[in-house]
Amino acid sequence: MPEHPRSVRAFRRAQRVLVGGVDSPVRAFAGVGGTPLFFSRGKGAYLYDLDGARYLDLVGSWGANLLGHAPPAVVRAVRRVSPRGLSFGAPSPLEHELGERLQRAIPGLGLLRFVNSGTEAVMSAVRAARGFTGRTRIVKFAGGYHGHSDGLLVRAGSGVAAGGRPGSAGVPASFARETLVLPYNDPAAVRLAFERAGESLAAVVVEPIAANMGLVLPKPGFLREIERSCRKHGALWIADEVITGFRLTKGVVHPRYGVHADLVTLGKIIGGGLPVGAYGGREEVMSQVAPLGPVYQAGTLAGNPVAMAAGAATLDELDSPLYLRLERIGRELESALREEAAAAGVPDLRMAREGSMLGLFFGGAYPTNLEEAEKGDRERYARFFWGALGSGIYLPPARLETAFASAAMGELELTRARRGFARAFRALAGGQGARR
Ligand SMILES: *Cc1c(COP(=O)(O)O)cnc(C)c1O
Repeated sequence: MPEHPRSVRAFRRAQRVLVGGVDSPVRAFAGVGGTPLFFSRGKGAYLYDLDGARYLDLVGSWGANLLGHAPPAVVRAVRRVSPRGLSFGAPSPLEHELGERLQRAIPGLGLLRFVNSGTEAVMSAVRAARGFTGRTRIVKFAGGYHGHSDGLLVRAGSGVAAGGRPGSAGVPASFARETLVLPYNDPAAVRLAFERAGESLAAVVVEPIAANMGLVLPKPGFLREIERSCRKHGALWIADEVITGFRLTKGVVHPRYGVHADLVTLGKIIGGGLPVGAYGGREEVMSQVAPLGPVYQAGTLAGNPVAMAAGAATLDELDSPLYLRLERIGRELESALREEAAAAGVPDLRMAREGSMLGLFFGGAYPTNLEEAEKGDRERYARFFWGALGSGIYLPPARLETAFASAAMGELELTRARRGFARAFRALAGGQGARR
């Protein structure tokens, strides 16, 4: 098992200054136990920890690093613009240059606004939808993650009539009641919610492919029902493509299902590793946002020149050969996982994959919603995680997350991944590999 004394020391020190030693909870490894690794460097498909050990990175900054770590074209762009100023707090052409790239890639993206995170993008899109419709309530789906703004931290209380209950302390129940939570992949629940409360609903927020309860693909007809109900009752639908945007194709993924959202939210990949989010869509909705309209939303560092340049340089690297390569990398990783699990005598691995996104699950049937996803075996995931880490592979340090491959993975990395998975599965089958 890996020893990482420098990470252990760094974590101890970090805990004296940062809440839980981290700036985002899942990084603390509560989902798998033990001490988180601290990293000093990332290059291509690899992360390097403080002790100098190298890991094949299948987290990829939670999906942001489509091209791997420090891709040369993006680093060059950052080097080019940063000496000319790190923030203006005033317009620069870099903003519309990235915006135009997004418009070209996303049909129906009339107007958009850049913000600093996915959280802000979804929070602001919901505000715009409320401003446009004059209604207050929104619908989300259990297991959908849309950032940590108050009204979206509601996941419990599925069922049509049940008002939302906050999924976090500090969220007033009165806010949570404005959020209806429905089960993912349940078109009948969507229809019923609209029949009962359609006139009060401003928007439905949905991940077209759910990637925050593991990887859960939409069943045929689910997204269509959302679109149909929204149109019929005058609500807007917001496709939260913060993860899926530019991950699977050069643009957003929901049109693949024959549907078109009123608003889309983006983040992660479009910032090329720097903090960027965006929301946009139908012009008559977006023109409700200040300075054109009465919906206020602003940002000191929004449209930051360095972040805009990193985003544009990233998008310029994305073409169809790249997505074909990502598909092949995803397929190879899936085969390696399935075959090595079978070879080691691990019978309960279940998987889903879409392009370079992989969902790993230990238990009965692969889930279609949160309730099923929560039945996965946490202990076995944790043991597999530590086994893989000991074999030089960094997986998401929590079940109910998606693993992301990057375009920086070549043949050598695929071979290393297969060998690492094989060892991790053998340890899992043999009852070793646990590390708490
Ligand atoms: C990551 C994510 C967010 C939040 O983005 P942050 O940049 O972490 O605030 C919102 N929606 C989805 C679907 C995400 O995956």
